[in-house]
Amino acid sequence: MSFRAHPTASSYASGPHAATGSRSHLLNDETVEHYRKSLTDGIERVAAKLTQTERPFTGITPDRLAPEISAIDLDEPLGDPGAALDELETVYLRDAVYFHHPRYLAHLNCPVVIPAVLGEAILSAVNSSLDTWDQSAGGTLIERRLIDWTTERIGLGADADGIFTSGGTQSNLQALLLARDEACRLEQAEQSERSGFDAPVSKTEIIPRLRILASECSHFSITKSATLLGLGADSVIPVPCDRNKRMHTVALARELDRCRQDGLLVMAVVATAGTTDFGSIDPLPEIADLCERAGTWLHVDAAYGCGLLVSRRRELLDGIERADSVTVDYHKSFFQPVSSSALLVRDRSTLRHVTYYADYLNPARSVAERIPNQVDKSIQTTRRFDALKLWMTLRIMGADAIGELFDDVVDRAADGWKLLNDDPRFEVVTEPQLSTLVFRYVPPAGVSPALTDRVNRHARQALAASGEAVVAGTVVDGRHYLKFTLLNPRTSLSDIAAVLDLLADHAGGYLAEHAVPEISRYLAG
Ligand SMILES: *Cc1c(COP(=O)(O)O)cnc(C)c1O
Repeated sequence: MSFRAHPTASSYASGPHAATGSRSHLLNDETVEHYRKSLTDGIERVAAKLTQTERPFTGITPDRLAPEISAIDLDEPLGDPGAALDELETVYLRDAVYFHHPRYLAHLNCPVVIPAVLGEAILSAVNSSLDTWDQSAGGTLIERRLIDWTTERIGLGADADGIFTSGGTQSNLQALLLARDEACRLEQAEQSERSGFDAPVSKTEIIPRLRILASECSHFSITKSATLLGLGADSVIPVPCDRNKRMHTVALARELDRCRQDGLLVMAVVATAGTTDFGSIDPLPEIADLCERAGTWLHVDAAYGCGLLVSRRRELLDGIERADSVTVDYHKSFFQPVSSSALLVRDRSTLRHVTYYADYLNPARSVAERIPNQVDKSIQTTRRFDALKLWMTLRIMGADAIGELFDDVVDRAADGWKLLNDDPRFEVVTEPQLSTLVFRYVPPAGVSPALTDRVNRHARQALAASGEAVVAGTVVDGRHYLKFTLLNPRTSLSDIAAVLDLLADHAGGYLAEHAVPEISRYLAG
């Protein structure tokens, strides 16, 4: 075993109270100069990157980047933040995918607003943990205010509550956990009443009968959650969509009836307010009517569409106020850095399904003592103060300013749709309600569907490899499509037009190389 001298942050340590050795790296009253200088250096690097970045991506491959990262000896620290930042340039900053760039059009990643980045810097420096009051104090109350603010925007009523989570996946998981346990509780109560016995039927007997109804365009985290909750992937019944990719309510009504006749219990209907691929919003009022009639929990997954809560298109979410639970991802349409999400519930008492008491942390008596411990409502324990980012955003910019940014990208998608719809080189699937466009390059007649798929896949990959723009891909009815997710208000219609030209060039080039052999094979029979 060898001993190595601890690196001293020599260039940063100064003054009579300067800490030395490993302690010089701890953030405290003795190291504020080090803190100030380190962070300022880091900010300068990012600022330089923002000024110099001409493309959203360099097109680097994992094979080329991996050796750079493997070559670094993690047991040989550099000691000096400046040296580590220099190194970071080649292992991360140089080839990162930049969402602020107007030609990043791929996934649901947003450029971030400065007030939220400021919040991020503060929350990690103070490092509050929002599980208990005694680890966060004001952070707890700020989070609660933002939960109330969000439930008010949704219209969930006076008994509503919720919790910040790490993302839509976790919000959906928790929503379905609450729905599962409510369904079991109600079924147990009903069976006890019917049989006149006090001893309720066990949860393990009920669980195999539980079903979740979600549209075929719902997010995959619904099925993942069902599996994690012990229900099995088959417990999720996909409900067909109409041609606009919105849940078919006639089909939903039929499934609800069929489940009842088969003795199955629908524990939740999941409506998606902004599907990940199409941005389509399920018909919330009709779905809420059906859920009310069937006595079923309604979960609205508004991970993507939540930006409408602050937009001039708020009416697109009409009906969301009738949900039992709602998922929102501020890190998608509120322009917040990852992670920032929340689960909201109509009835705060349902959160008790995740309440467990630990003597060391949140003893049961703290409830009587009215100590606000957020861990009582969360599936996490130690938890980031992500709420601070939204707080700073609302305090500096305000909700309307966020709504304007989201409305901008929705407007742009509408213009982009017209552009695509008039362009004979492409076909576009649906007219967008939010900010995604799903389309594909259409080769001349006679080209096989398989080659058409390859042409579109190639166009996407070649574009990413060039770094000129990044677009997404998806599959519709078994065929490969391209996708723009617009979340950057700076993306102009001419950016969209330019990216379409690039895609058409890559597609056309590939076709020229491959279509001739295919057609000659076809002629040769
Ligand atoms: C993105 C998304 C999710 C998952 O959210 P994460 O924050 O990525 O975990 C869930 N539902 C929908 C509709 C989404 O678009």
